[in-house]
Amino acid sequence: MSLREQLCEYGRRAIEQGLVIGTSGNLSVRMGNLVAVTPSGIALDRLTPETCPLVDLTGRVVEGELRPSSETPMHLAIYESTDAQAIVHTHSVFGTVVATTMTELPPVHYNALLLGGVVKVAGYATYGTPELAANVRAALEGKRAALMANHGGVTIGATLEEAFEATRLLEWLCEVYVRGLSVGRPAVLTEEQLAAVVERALNPPPL
Ligand SMILES: [Zn+2]
Repeated sequence: MSLREQLCEYGRRAIEQGLVIGTSGNLSVRMGNLVAVTPSGIALDRLTPETCPLVDLTGRVVEGELRPSSETPMHLAIYESTDAQAIVHTHSVFGTVVATTMTELPPVHYNALLLGGVVKVAGYATYGTPELAANVRAALEGKRAALMANHGGVTIGATLEEAFEATRLLEWLCEVYVRGLSVGRPAVLTEEQLAAVVERALNPPPL
Protein backbone atom coordinates (compact mmCIF):
# COMPACT_ATOMS: atom_id res chain seq x y z
CA MET A 1 0.00 0.00 0.00
CA SER A 2 1.45 3.40 -0.95
CA LEU A 3 1.75 6.00 1.77
CA ARG A 4 -1.09 8.05 0.26
CA GLU A 5 -3.24 4.92 0.12
CA GLN A 6 -2.45 4.46 3.81
CA LEU A 7 -3.77 7.98 4.52
CA CYS A 8 -7.09 6.97 2.91
CA GLU A 9 -7.21 3.67 4.80
CA TYR A 10 -6.50 5.15 8.22
CA GLY A 11 -8.77 8.13 7.49
CA ARG A 12 -11.59 5.67 6.86
CA ARG A 13 -10.79 3.74 10.04
CA ALA A 14 -10.68 6.97 12.08
CA ILE A 15 -14.26 7.74 11.03
CA GLU A 16 -15.45 4.13 11.37
CA GLN A 17 -14.07 3.91 14.90
CA GLY A 18 -15.67 7.19 15.94
CA LEU A 19 -12.37 8.99 16.48
CA VAL A 20 -13.24 11.63 13.90
CA ILE A 21 -16.48 13.19 12.67
CA GLY A 22 -16.38 14.32 9.05
CA THR A 23 -13.45 16.65 8.36
CA SER A 24 -12.48 17.24 12.00
CA GLY A 25 -9.12 15.52 12.06
CA ASN A 26 -6.06 15.11 9.91
CA LEU A 27 -3.30 12.63 9.22
CA SER A 28 0.09 12.83 7.59
CA VAL A 29 2.97 10.58 6.71
CA ARG A 30 6.55 11.56 5.90
CA MET A 31 8.60 10.36 2.96
CA GLY A 32 12.08 11.82 3.25
CA ASN A 33 11.76 15.56 2.65
CA LEU A 34 8.12 15.32 1.61
CA VAL A 35 4.95 14.90 3.63
CA ALA A 36 1.66 13.48 2.35
CA VAL A 37 -1.18 15.07 4.28
CA THR A 38 -4.96 14.85 4.22
CA PRO A 39 -6.63 17.74 2.38
CA SER A 40 -8.75 20.48 3.88
CA GLY A 41 -12.51 20.15 3.57
CA ILE A 42 -12.94 16.48 2.62
CA ALA A 43 -14.35 13.95 5.07
CA LEU A 44 -11.66 11.45 6.03
CA ASP A 45 -13.70 8.51 4.72
CA ARG A 46 -13.99 10.08 1.26
CA LEU A 47 -10.29 10.45 0.47
CA THR A 48 -8.55 9.07 -2.58
CA PRO A 49 -4.75 9.04 -2.95
CA GLU A 50 -4.87 11.85 -5.57
CA THR A 51 -6.80 14.14 -3.19
CA CYS A 52 -3.98 14.01 -0.61
CA PRO A 53 -1.47 16.81 -1.29
CA LEU A 54 2.28 16.33 -1.04
CA VAL A 55 4.07 19.23 0.66
CA ASP A 56 7.73 19.92 1.33
CA LEU A 57 9.00 20.61 4.84
CA THR A 58 8.23 24.33 4.47
CA GLY A 59 4.59 23.59 3.62
CA ARG A 60 4.82 24.35 -0.11
CA VAL A 61 2.53 22.08 -2.14
CA VAL A 62 4.60 20.07 -4.60
CA GLU A 63 1.80 17.82 -5.83
CA GLY A 64 -1.99 17.88 -5.63
CA GLU A 65 -4.87 20.18 -6.51
CA LEU A 66 -6.37 20.59 -3.05
CA ARG A 67 -5.37 22.74 -0.12
CA PRO A 68 -3.50 20.75 2.56
CA SER A 69 -5.12 20.40 5.99
CA SER A 70 -5.24 23.66 7.97
CA GLU A 71 -3.25 21.88 10.67
CA THR A 72 -0.29 21.24 8.31
CA PRO A 73 1.96 23.80 10.13
CA MET A 74 1.54 21.73 13.31
CA HIS A 75 2.41 18.51 11.48
CA LEU A 76 5.53 20.10 9.99
CA ALA A 77 6.63 21.51 13.35
CA ILE A 78 6.33 18.03 14.86
CA TYR A 79 8.36 16.44 12.05
CA GLU A 80 11.02 19.09 12.60
CA SER A 81 11.41 18.39 16.31
CA THR A 82 10.77 14.64 16.66
CA ASP A 83 11.66 11.38 14.91
CA ALA A 84 7.99 10.99 13.84
CA GLN A 85 7.32 9.47 10.43
CA ALA A 86 3.54 9.77 10.76
CA ILE A 87 1.06 11.92 12.71
CA VAL A 88 -2.61 11.49 13.60
CA HIS A 89 -4.72 14.36 14.96
CA THR A 90 -8.36 13.92 16.00
CA HIS A 91 -11.09 15.58 18.04
CA SER A 92 -12.04 12.27 19.68
CA VAL A 93 -14.61 12.60 22.47
CA PHE A 94 -12.78 11.52 25.62
CA GLY A 95 -9.49 13.09 24.53
CA THR A 96 -11.30 16.37 24.01
CA VAL A 97 -13.09 16.05 27.37
CA VAL A 98 -9.73 15.74 29.14
CA ALA A 99 -8.25 18.53 27.00
CA THR A 100 -11.06 20.91 28.00
CA THR A 101 -11.00 20.17 31.72
CA MET A 102 -7.46 19.27 32.78
CA THR A 103 -3.83 20.24 32.28
CA GLU A 104 -2.59 16.68 31.91
CA LEU A 105 -3.73 13.06 31.73
CA PRO A 106 -2.19 11.28 34.71
CA PRO A 107 -0.96 7.69 34.25
CA VAL A 108 -3.74 5.61 35.80
CA HIS A 109 -2.86 2.57 33.68
CA TYR A 110 0.59 1.22 32.88
CA ASN A 111 -0.13 1.30 29.14
CA ALA A 112 0.29 5.08 29.44
CA LEU A 113 4.01 4.30 29.29
CA LEU A 114 3.58 3.47 25.60
CA LEU A 115 2.78 7.16 25.09
CA GLY A 116 5.55 8.41 27.41
CA GLY A 117 3.69 8.38 30.76
CA VAL A 118 1.87 11.61 31.67
CA VAL A 119 0.20 13.12 28.58
CA LYS A 120 0.44 16.91 28.69
CA VAL A 121 -2.26 19.29 27.48
CA ALA A 122 -0.76 21.91 25.14
CA GLY A 123 -1.92 25.48 25.83
CA TYR A 124 -4.83 26.75 23.77
CA ALA A 125 -4.21 28.66 20.55
CA THR A 126 -6.31 29.12 17.41
CA TYR A 127 -6.27 26.13 15.06
CA GLY A 128 -3.75 26.23 12.24
CA THR A 129 -1.54 28.89 13.85
CA PRO A 130 2.22 28.77 14.53
CA GLU A 131 1.38 29.37 18.22
CA LEU A 132 -0.61 26.15 18.37
CA ALA A 133 2.18 24.30 16.56
CA ALA A 134 4.72 25.60 19.11
CA ASN A 135 2.53 24.69 22.09
CA VAL A 136 2.00 21.15 20.77
CA ARG A 137 5.67 20.71 20.01
CA ALA A 138 6.54 21.63 23.61
CA ALA A 139 3.90 19.26 25.06
CA LEU A 140 5.17 16.41 22.88
CA GLU A 141 8.78 16.63 24.03
CA GLY A 142 9.91 13.10 24.90
CA LYS A 143 6.37 11.73 24.32
CA ARG A 144 4.35 9.95 21.66
CA ALA A 145 1.14 11.87 22.39
CA ALA A 146 -0.19 15.25 23.47
CA LEU A 147 -3.61 16.72 24.08
CA MET A 148 -4.52 20.19 22.81
CA ALA A 149 -6.55 22.43 25.13
CA ASN A 150 -10.21 22.79 24.05
CA HIS A 151 -9.39 21.02 20.80
CA GLY A 152 -8.32 17.32 20.68
CA GLY A 153 -5.30 15.07 20.62
CA VAL A 154 -2.26 14.28 18.51
CA THR A 155 -0.02 11.22 18.35
CA ILE A 156 3.13 10.31 16.47
CA GLY A 157 4.68 7.07 15.27
CA ALA A 158 7.32 5.46 13.09
CA THR A 159 4.49 4.41 10.76
CA LEU A 160 0.92 5.54 10.21
CA GLU A 161 -0.28 2.32 11.83
CA GLU A 162 1.77 3.10 14.93
CA ALA A 163 0.50 6.69 15.12
CA PHE A 164 -3.08 5.48 14.63
CA GLU A 165 -2.77 2.84 17.36
CA ALA A 166 -1.33 5.53 19.65
CA THR A 167 -4.43 7.64 18.98
CA ARG A 168 -6.68 4.68 19.86
CA LEU A 169 -4.68 4.10 23.05
CA LEU A 170 -4.80 7.80 23.99
CA GLU A 171 -8.56 7.80 23.56
CA TRP A 172 -8.90 4.60 25.62
CA LEU A 173 -6.76 6.03 28.44
CA CYS A 174 -8.79 9.25 28.44
CA GLU A 175 -12.03 7.26 28.53
CA VAL A 176 -10.83 5.12 31.45
CA TYR A 177 -9.82 8.25 33.36
CA VAL A 178 -13.02 10.19 32.66
CA ARG A 179 -15.24 7.20 33.49
CA GLY A 180 -13.12 6.57 36.58
CA LEU A 181 -13.78 10.13 37.75
CA SER A 182 -17.51 9.51 37.48
CA VAL A 183 -17.22 6.58 39.90
CA GLY A 184 -14.60 7.84 42.33
CA ARG A 185 -11.06 9.10 42.45
CA PRO A 186 -8.83 7.16 40.04
CA ALA A 187 -5.53 6.10 41.64
CA VAL A 188 -2.52 7.44 39.78
CA LEU A 189 0.46 5.11 39.37
CA THR A 190 3.58 6.26 41.24
CA GLU A 191 7.02 6.76 39.68
CA GLU A 192 8.13 3.54 41.43
CA GLN A 193 5.22 1.55 40.05
CA LEU A 194 5.90 2.83 36.54
CA ALA A 195 9.63 2.13 36.87
CA ALA A 196 8.78 -1.44 37.93
CA VAL A 197 6.71 -1.88 34.75
CA VAL A 198 9.62 -0.70 32.61
CA GLU A 199 11.96 -3.06 34.50
CA ARG A 200 9.55 -5.98 33.99
CA ALA A 201 9.21 -5.21 30.25
CA LEU A 202 12.98 -5.05 29.83
CA ASN A 203 13.59 -8.24 31.84
CA PRO A 204 10.73 -10.66 31.23
CA PRO A 205 10.74 -13.88 33.29
CA PRO A 206 12.26 -16.88 31.47
CA LEU A 207 9.87 -19.16 29.56
ZN1 LIG B 1 -8.12 19.92 14.99
